[in-house]
Amino acid sequence: MKIADGIELWNQTVDRLRTEIGDENAELWLKPVSAISLEGGVLMLKVPNKFFSDGIKERYQKRLISVLRDLSGQEIGIDFRVERDLTRVLPPSDPVPEASPQSDFPLSELNPRYTFDSFVIGESNRLARATAESISKSPGTQYNPYVIYGGVGLGKTHIMHAIGNAIRRHHPRSRVLYTTSEQFVNEFIAAVQNNQIDSFRSRYRSLDCLLIDDIQFLIAKDRSEQEFFHTFNALFDSRKQIVVSSDRSPKDMSPLEQRLVSRLEWGFVADIKPPDLETRIAILRKKAAHEGFTAPDDVILFIASSVKTNVRALEGCLIRLKAFQAMTGAPLSVDDARDILKDSIAVDDSSPVRIETIQRVVALKYSVDVKDLKGHQRTVSISMPRQVAMYLSCVMTELSSTDIGRAFGGKDHSTVLHARKKIEKKIEEDPFFLELINKLQADIKTAER
Ligand code: ADP
Ligand code: MG
Repeated sequence: MKIADGIELWNQTVDRLRTEIGDENAELWLKPVSAISLEGGVLMLKVPNKFFSDGIKERYQKRLISVLRDLSGQEIGIDFRVERDLTRVLPPSDPVPEASPQSDFPLSELNPRYTFDSFVIGESNRLARATAESISKSPGTQYNPYVIYGGVGLGKTHIMHAIGNAIRRHHPRSRVLYTTSEQFVNEFIAAVQNNQIDSFRSRYRSLDCLLIDDIQFLIAKDRSEQEFFHTFNALFDSRKQIVVSSDRSPKDMSPLEQRLVSRLEWGFVADIKPPDLETRIAILRKKAAHEGFTAPDDVILFIASSVKTNVRALEGCLIRLKAFQAMTGAPLSVDDARDILKDSIAVDDSSPVRIETIQRVVALKYSVDVKDLKGHQRTVSISMPRQVAMYLSCVMTELSSTDIGRAFGGKDHSTVLHARKKIEKKIEEDPFFLELINKLQADIKTAER
């Protein structure tokens, strides 16, 4: 078939699909796509970037193939080629944009304390920080989009603010926005309600750098997610910098989260790991100096070796010791520190918890009795919390499924495994349920102190 046939076929396909998916979706998803060839039973489509091909595959691939079959009377596959429209990708001749300085867009405040200088470099964060710094020098060029992964309290937000602060310093007139995905969702919802969607869009799309923190909050908010991708796309196409963070690594994400994040990964990805001992000591020293607090070396070492997985918790310990010292005026010993910090240190501990604690916390959460969890009642209001408690017992204790079954009123180990599977599935399918489970885990750890 000739190219012209491909174009014609595509146009007809779009027309047909438009009636099914509605004008808005057709404009968003199909309009920017054009046919470039039809060869060997494959219709090659040109898309502006990978975001489109992924989005179309996910949403419309099946329908497209069947409409193509209907219209052409043969099996036709589709393939995508990312082809940037060169007329639109102008060289960044003027990196300092002449932005309209007075707009009513409240660019959220950047924390001036979160800078590259105040960020301690270690093996765990070297790449993430170096990339961030080079982005701040020439935003929108090499590392775009930039995705930062890392557990809670490891410095993602710090680095994002540092990028923003540095860009503003290098390019004082550029429009940098730091926001969380939660804020983005709320603003979007408000804009929809107040009929201000156009101004919402134009404000976001006039940015030079968009920093979106904790992207995981966008999952399962379908319209907001779409809106984010369109914002993303508009910015990306005009070579504006986008930086996104997520508190889970892809392997710890639910499929929904993975879907969201994998779309961003064609830019540049760096992860931040928990800092090693040396880095933890350096962070504590820096923080202590900043706070004008002289902590003895052995106390610093004690904190650094007790709190391993969260820099925020590390800093929290220091602040508490400082407050204690200010109160007593006496020099701090390691024993004092151990005593003052025993609570904080327990929370950081990933050691197993007791099954009684799990049962107690879960029962409280679901307003049932612990003895119900151990009983045999099968109503959902009881069996659900029971399964949740069994699941948590599997992942938070070192007990075998046989032991766990025994602790739940003498149930069989296969009952425990069934509960575990069921809850795992639910976690995968439902991000809100995942949040609930995470929260329960945190509560259990706290209760275990
Ligand atoms: P996240 O966003 O990853 O949860 P934050 O960026 O909020 O973590 O960091 C938590 C705290 O730890 C902040 O006060 C931050 O300044 C500090 N912090 C984290 N990593 C470092 C580091 N490498 N050097 C100095 N401070 C750090
Ligand atoms: Mg953060």
